Amino acid sequence: MDIYGALQTYFGYDRFKEGQEKIVLGALNGSDVLGIMPTGGGKSLCYQLPAILLDGVTLVVSPLISLMKDQVDSLNEIGIPATFINSTLDDFELNQRIEETKQGNYKILYIAPERLNTYVFSNLMKDIKVSMIAIDEAHCISQWGHDFRPSYTEIPKFIRSFSSRPIVAAYTATATKLIVEEIKDLLQLKNPIESIIGFDRPNLFYQVIKVSDKLTYVSDYINKNFPDKSGIIYCATRKTVESLTEKLNQLGFKAVAYHGGMDSETRQKNQDDFILNNIQIIVATNAFGMGIDKPDVRFVIHYNMPQNMEAYYQEAGRAGRDGEPSQCTLLYSPSDIVKQKFLIQSSTFSEERENILYENLQYLVDYCNTNDCLRSMILKYFGEMSQESKCDNCGNCLDDSEMVDITLESQKILSCVYRVQERFGITMVIQVLRGSKNKRLLEFGLDKVSTYGIMKEYSENALREIIMALTSMGYLIVTADKFPVLKLAASAREVLSGKEKVHHKKHLLEIKSATRRKEVSLEGVLDSFNEDLFIKLKELRYSLSQEKGMAPFMIFHDATLKEMASYFPQDKESMLAVKGIGEKKYETYGEKFLEVIKEYCINKNIQPIEIVKEKVIDRGRATVDRYQSTYDLYLEELSLDEIAERRSLTISTIIEHLSKCEKRGQSVDWSSFKVDTDIEAKILSAINEVGAERLKPIKELLPEDISYEDIRIVIAKNNLN
Ligand code: ADP
Repeated sequence: MDIYGALQTYFGYDRFKEGQEKIVLGALNGSDVLGIMPTGGGKSLCYQLPAILLDGVTLVVSPLISLMKDQVDSLNEIGIPATFINSTLDDFELNQRIEETKQGNYKILYIAPERLNTYVFSNLMKDIKVSMIAIDEAHCISQWGHDFRPSYTEIPKFIRSFSSRPIVAAYTATATKLIVEEIKDLLQLKNPIESIIGFDRPNLFYQVIKVSDKLTYVSDYINKNFPDKSGIIYCATRKTVESLTEKLNQLGFKAVAYHGGMDSETRQKNQDDFILNNIQIIVATNAFGMGIDKPDVRFVIHYNMPQNMEAYYQEAGRAGRDGEPSQCTLLYSPSDIVKQKFLIQSSTFSEERENILYENLQYLVDYCNTNDCLRSMILKYFGEMSQESKCDNCGNCLDDSEMVDITLESQKILSCVYRVQERFGITMVIQVLRGSKNKRLLEFGLDKVSTYGIMKEYSENALREIIMALTSMGYLIVTADKFPVLKLAASAREVLSGKEKVHHKKHLLEIKSATRRKEVSLEGVLDSFNEDLFIKLKELRYSLSQEKGMAPFMIFHDATLKEMASYFPQDKESMLAVKGIGEKKYETYGEKFLEVIKEYCINKNIQPIEIVKEKVIDRGRATVDRYQSTYDLYLEELSLDEIAERRSLTISTIIEHLSKCEKRGQSVDWSSFKVDTDIEAKILSAINEVGAERLKPIKELLPEDISYEDIRIVIAKNNLN
């Protein structure tokens, strides 16, 4: 069987997602591989498919033993023989599985990292042929990441123990460039075939909300947008988890708690209840979630601010793995920053590491305070070039609240920072501006500076808001220290001299008792399908899942049921054309679902619709297809302007689309887009100085008339991205 046959037969898909094919082919050709793909990108298939076709057993090293059973059950459901070995097994079960593995009963064996170098397991390795070692959540090997697991350091030794080294495959969803290098280095990947695809999750809507009454907000938000949909609420401490769970239950929600201080039995039960849809909401600390592949989480709320952007991206990313529209909401309150700083201070890290942690935290604080596109900010963090255009799917891009000129306020604040000689933190600067009689302030003689008391009429919150906004706009810098102080950035001069104006959202400058942000409802965003039939199919799925004691999504995902309820397949052939139905799944469940669909069609006199695959792929905001549409116009030899007009996109976006196409192997002749050689030389020399990661610093070094588009073309043309 070839890879396309296996893709269809086992997984029920007719094409690969971006980045998968390269990895699968790489592994089948015997190379090491590295897949950096966002959550929901389809990493599991990257090792599961080659595992079927390679001769021998594939070992999958995974950090979370509580999820292995689900993964193995899902594989068995689609006809791939798999099992797991971890500490939940008793000796009898362990020996039985070892024997069965020796007899060649399994193609995939999940294993916890701490077991790798044990006597029993090393012995088993001598008796079987290992085709590939796949390392899931590979970033756990990095001591710099936020998910470091000491047991992952066992992996290199284990790999070295083979006389004939198997293929090594590493996967993760969150890795900055630094961590990618560390993964390659520590795992000693040999010239790996890499698929590093973007970090964008187009189906996720991001928003930052500033409210004083978080509980009321959360309760209204869920009732309004997701009354019967699954969601995760992350809190910073176990105590908050406990109290919020209790309050939500009092308000009539079905919520359970999850944190490291609970006994493992209750924790596992709560996790299972959430995955099985027995309860709606799981309230958790960051101990929850890694590897949870529940596809239909529709909202993730951060009740408190997490440690840094990486943690936020990963936790929020647990929403919408199935590609359906989902929302990520961060509830921001300045006191959370204090909490996070305290956690860093009380750690035992080296000073260098602490400073990195402060810097990372500051990036997230800036994210909370920016007026710019939130998606761009996330992507920038991971070193991706930001789209200049708005994403139109984040709280900021959809926010139509009134902007006001705060140049005068900004000037007062900046000059105060200057007057106190850039030696104090936010709180002291605010106290000086408001003319406080604080003892420390008086001791330092700060009541004598000329800006003392010049903003008495502003509330502390309003001043903090403006200072945060000035920081995220880059006019102020908060130093990355234990006692962070405010400093002026070079660009502050432009504001002080009146050359640059500063604007900010009006409502954020007022007393912040309620959010006035535009709320985005998901209604109308989901595709059209027959809701009535969809509910019937869900009922059937639920009763089958109860019979088998497994999660409904392991039978079919919502997306698969929706496709059935859109096209009304009537026979095996049309059923197999539905996304997510392969031979084995059809064999087990196909007829039962066909029966319900056929009966429904007869009763309602509905004609089936033929499935044209293109149509299916077009759904949602399939990024692959957006790029292809741009590429098709490029092939028609249209100019960048013309393509931009035809696609109603900015030129920058078009360039970005073409770069993506090039990355996935389509050829683009950049020299057909003219940039003056003189200008190109200037851009290249600027890049030499500040690197090509971010556009703004490059632009700042160049004469005004050199545009962002020129810079993007030069970067793409010279392969610098
Ligand atoms: P990750 O581990 O990268 O977060 P998963 O492996 O859980 O992602 O896959 C995410 C979702 O995408 C799953 O619902 C999976 O069934 C689906 N998927 C994977 N590969 C394909 C494909 N080629 N076509 C359509 N859906 C796919």
